[in-house]
Amino acid sequence: PETMKNAVLELHAELNLEPFWMPFTANRQFKANPRLLVAAQGMHYTSHDGRQILDGTAGLWCVNAGHCRPAIVEAIQQQVAQLDYAPAFQMGHPKAFELADQLIQLTPPGLDHVFFANSGSEAVDTALKIAIAYHRVRGQGSRQRLIGRERGYHGVGFGGISVGGISSNRKYFGSLVPGVDHLPHTHNLEHNAFSRGLPRWGSHLAEELERIVALHDASTIAAVIVEPVAGSTGVLIPPVGYLEKLRAICDKYGILLIFDEVITGFGRLGSPFAANYFGVVPDLICCAKGLTNGTIPMGAVIVKQEIYNTFMDSAESPIELFHGYTYSGHPVASAAGLATLKLYQQEGLFERAARLAPLWEAAIHSLKGLPHVIDVRNLGLVGAVELEGIPGRPTARAFEAFLRCYERGVLIRTTGDIIALSPPLIIEETHIEHLIATLRQVLQELA
Ligand code: PLP
Repeated sequence: PETMKNAVLELHAELNLEPFWMPFTANRQFKANPRLLVAAQGMHYTSHDGRQILDGTAGLWCVNAGHCRPAIVEAIQQQVAQLDYAPAFQMGHPKAFELADQLIQLTPPGLDHVFFANSGSEAVDTALKIAIAYHRVRGQGSRQRLIGRERGYHGVGFGGISVGGISSNRKYFGSLVPGVDHLPHTHNLEHNAFSRGLPRWGSHLAEELERIVALHDASTIAAVIVEPVAGSTGVLIPPVGYLEKLRAICDKYGILLIFDEVITGFGRLGSPFAANYFGVVPDLICCAKGLTNGTIPMGAVIVKQEIYNTFMDSAESPIELFHGYTYSGHPVASAAGLATLKLYQQEGLFERAARLAPLWEAAIHSLKGLPHVIDVRNLGLVGAVELEGIPGRPTARAFEAFLRCYERGVLIRTTGDIIALSPPLIIEETHIEHLIATLRQVLQELA
C-alpha cells in the first residue's frame, strides 16, 4: 500500500488528470484515486504502480485472444507502414474485402454481406438504418418502428439508446428516436436464481412481441433488436426457447430480427457467434470488440443475402445505401481483424472456450452461499454474481468489490450491483482458480 501511495503521488505530479472527461466513469472519484494501466501481456495488465492484474473481463469484453498477441501487433505495424489509409467511399483496398470474406465464413449460412463501422454503437445504428431502408426500398416504407428490450444495451448513439433499455443511458438525452417500443427483459430471480446455463423459466416473455404487434400493427414495424445474451446490463441469459420464439414471431410478421452480438461474437459462448450457438439465425448481426481483439476500433454489420440483394436490385440511385464512415473498413483495422480471426482459428480459441465452460460454471457457482450473493449465472465463458444492494446506496457494494479485487490484482467489472466476468478465452485453469478465490475472499469481507 505504501509503494502504491507513492506511485500515485508521483503520477499526480507528472500527469494532469483533469482535462480528460472520462466515459462512463465516476470522474471525481477516479481522479482522486486513479487506476491506470500501462502495459498488458496475455492474461495480465500491468498497473501504473507496477503490479500484475489478472484480466477477468478481457478489457471490456473485447480482448478475447489475450493481450498484445505478437501476430496481431505485427500485422498492425506492417499495415500502417504500407497503407495507412484509403478513402472508404468509391475506393477500396484489398484487406477490407478479404476480412468481409473471412467474417462470413464464421456466420451461419445466409448471412454473407458485411458493412463496416468503427464501434459497436456505430454497428447498431447502421443495422437499424439498414432495416428501415430495406423495407422502404422494397416498397414497405411504413415499416419504421424499432423494437428493443428493457435492460438492453446497444451502445450510445441515438438509435442505440432509443432501442436500449437502460434508464440512465436514456433519461438525460431528450425524446430520442420516435416510434420505438420495448419487449420486457427476461431477468427474474424468483424463478431463475442460480441457474446454470440457460434458465428454464421465461420463454413465454417472447410472446410479448405478439402484443406489441397487435398494438402497432406489423405494417409499422421494421425490426426487433436484442442481445442474445445481454452483457453490459449484467449478464442476462435467455430462457430456453426464448430466442426461437422471437425468431418465429418475426418470421410470421415479416419483421427483421437483429442480434447485437457485440459481446457474444467471437467465441464468448464457445462458438463464433451466439447465432451459431443457439441455432437461431437472425437477419442481421452487429459485432465489434473481439473482431480486432480490441486492438483497433472496428464494428461490422453482417446481413442476409436477401437484404443486400434488395438494395442491389431495387435501389433508386447508383449508390444503393446512403450511409458509411470515413473509417469504414480502415486498412489498419482490417489488418488487425484478419490477424485476429487467423489467431482464433489457429489456436482453436472458440472450441477452447466451449471446453472450459463446464469448469467455469462450477467455479463461479462455488460462490453461492457467500454473504449478499443473491444470484450466480453463466454461459460459455461469461458469468455474473449478483449482490444484494445496500439499502439506499445502489451499486456501492459491487463497486467496493471491484476496488478490493483491483487492490488484490484482479480486474472484474461491475454494473449496478452485479459483478460481470468475461475473461480472455486463453484463460488457464489456474487463472480461473485465482480469479474465483480472490473474489471469494473479497465477498467474505464485504460489509
Ligand atoms: N452493443 C452491445 C451489446 C455492447 O455490449 C456494446 C458495448 O459494450 C455496444 C453495443 C457498444 O459498443 P461500443 O462501445 O464499441 O460503441
